[in-house]
Amino acid sequence: MWCLGVPFQSSSQKAIFYQLKKRGILAEETKRILVTGGAGFIGAHLCERLIEEGCEVVCVDNLFTGSRANIKHLLNNDRFEFIRHDIIQPLLVDVDQIYNLACPASPIHYQYNPVKTIQTNVVGVYNMVELARQVRARILQASTSEVYGDPTVHPQPESYWGNVNPVGPRSCYDEGKRCAETLLIDYYLQNRIEVRIARIFNTYGPKMAMNDGRVVSNFAIQALKGEPITIFGDGTQTRSFCYVDDLVEGLIRLMNYNGEDAHRPINLGNPEEHSILELARLIVQVTDTNTEISNHPLPQDDPKQRRPDINRARDCLGWQPTIAFEKGLKQTVAYFREKLSAQG
Ligand code: NAD
Ligand code: UDP
Repeated sequence: MWCLGVPFQSSSQKAIFYQLKKRGILAEETKRILVTGGAGFIGAHLCERLIEEGCEVVCVDNLFTGSRANIKHLLNNDRFEFIRHDIIQPLLVDVDQIYNLACPASPIHYQYNPVKTIQTNVVGVYNMVELARQVRARILQASTSEVYGDPTVHPQPESYWGNVNPVGPRSCYDEGKRCAETLLIDYYLQNRIEVRIARIFNTYGPKMAMNDGRVVSNFAIQALKGEPITIFGDGTQTRSFCYVDDLVEGLIRLMNYNGEDAHRPINLGNPEEHSILELARLIVQVTDTNTEISNHPLPQDDPKQRRPDINRARDCLGWQPTIAFEKGLKQTVAYFREKLSAQG
C-alpha cells in the first residue's frame, strides 16, 4: 500500500486533520477526486468534466478496456494524475470522493475473463470502499441496469429486485454488480460510510472503444465501413440509450446529493426505449449509408426489454436526459468516422 502526496505521520494526525476539515477550521480546498476506470469510456468523460469544474483528479486504471488515448489531453494538466493500477490490489490515496467505475462493461469484455470480472466487482469494490473508510471519502459505485437481469417488471423502478441467472454467461457481471451494491450498503450500515449507487442503463457516445462489441459502436462502425449490420435475434429486444454527457451530469449530481435517502440506488438512464431494429435503421439514416442487415443468433440470457423508471432521479437530483437520440448518434458517428479515417 502506498500514499499519494504527503502522507500522515500517524493515525492521530490524520484524525485531527479530518476533524478540523469537517468543522470548517481548515479552509475548504480544491476537491480531490479518485476516478477508477478513468481511462475508459464513461470514466474519461467524467475526468474531463471534473477537471473543467476545477477539481483535482486521480485517475486509476489497469488499461484492460480503457486507453491512454482517452485521457491524453488531460495528462499535461497539473490537476490530473494517472496511475496504472488494478483495483483488485489495495490502494491508499488521500481523496475526498471516489467514483468507482473500474470494470469492463461490454459483454465480450466482461466474459473474456469472468473470474477477473467477479474479482473486480467484489475484491476491487471491497478495496475501494475500505479506502473510503480509511480516508473518510464519499464513494459512488457504478452499478448497472443488469442488476435487473431479464426484467419481468417494465419499466424498471429501483424497488424491483430483478430476474438474474446466477450461473449464466452474464452472471460474473450481473451478480458481481449486485454484490458490489450489497457491500456498499453494508459499509453504510456498519461503518456509516457515505455511499452512492448509480444503476446506469445503456450509455453511448464518443470514446467508446472500437472493439467494444456493444450495439451502438458495432452498428456505427459496420455502417461506416459498408459492412452488414449484425442484428442478434430478431431485433425486437429493446434498450434505452443515454448519451454520455447526460450520464456524467447524473453521476455528479448523485455524488453531491445529500438527501436522507442518498445511500439508496438510483437509476440513471434515458427512459426513451428503442428496439434494436429501430436503432439499426437510425444508424443507417445518420450515417447516410445503404447498409444491409444480417441476422445472428441471440446470445444466451440476452434481456428482452430494458427501460429505466427515472422518477427517483427526477425527484432527488432534478435530473433527466436532455440530449436527443439522433443528435447523440450523430456525435458518436462523427467520432467513429474520424477514428476510422485516422486508421486509413
Ligand atoms: P469501459 O470498459 O470503457 O471502462 C471501464 C474501465 O475500467 C476501463 O478503462 C478498464 O481498463 C478499467 N478497468 C477494468 N477492470 C479494472 C480493474 N480491475 N482495475 C482497474 N481498472 C479496471 O466501460 P464503461 O462503459 O466506461 O463503464 C464504466 C462503468 O460503468 C463500469 O463499471 C460499468 O459496469 C458501468 N456501466 C456502464 C454502462 C454503459 O452502458 N457504458 C452501463 C451500466 C454500467
Ligand atoms: N446486439 C446486436 N448486435 C450487435 C451487438 C449487440 O443485435 O452487434 C444486441 C444485443 O444482443 C442486445 C443489445 O443489442 O440485445 C444491446 O447489446 P449491448 O452488448 O450493447 O448491451 P447489453 O446487452 O449489455 O445491454
